[in-house]
This record gives sequence, C-alpha cells and structure tokens, in this order.
Amino acid sequence: MAAGNIKVTSKHCKKCNERTKFERNSLVWGAGDLIMVLLTAGLYLPFRFLIHALTNPWRCTKCGSR
Ligand SMILES: [Zn+2]
Repeated sequence: MAAGNIKVTSKHCKKCNERTKFERNSLVWGAGDLIMVLLTAGLYLPFRFLIHALTNPWRCTKCGSR
C-alpha cells in the first residue's frame, strides 16, 4: 500500500496543555474506492470519510496523544 501524505495542523493538546503540531495521514483514494462509489451511487463516500477519520485520528507530534 502506498504511503499517504501527512497533513499537519496546529491544535491545543490536552496532555501537553499547550498548542502543538498534530498530524494525520491524508485520505488516499484507490481504484477500489472508485468502484465502491460507482456501485453505491456515492453512498460509500460518507462511510469512507468516517472510516478514515476513525482509523487516522489527529495525533500530537509531541506526546503522541490523540
Ligand atoms: Zn501532546
């Protein structure tokens, strides 16, 4: 599986109790996703985003906390 791009943002970390950098893998679309979108007439899209959000939470780059 190809490595996705890393998205970085600045958020407040509860654990560090300060503003730190958070990163997560960006959503990478594959051929399988395209087929699923066509088969489900787009209903697959919200599920794809939901699954991605659940499996790729924002993580603090300082302490690793979500
Ligand atoms: Zn932190």
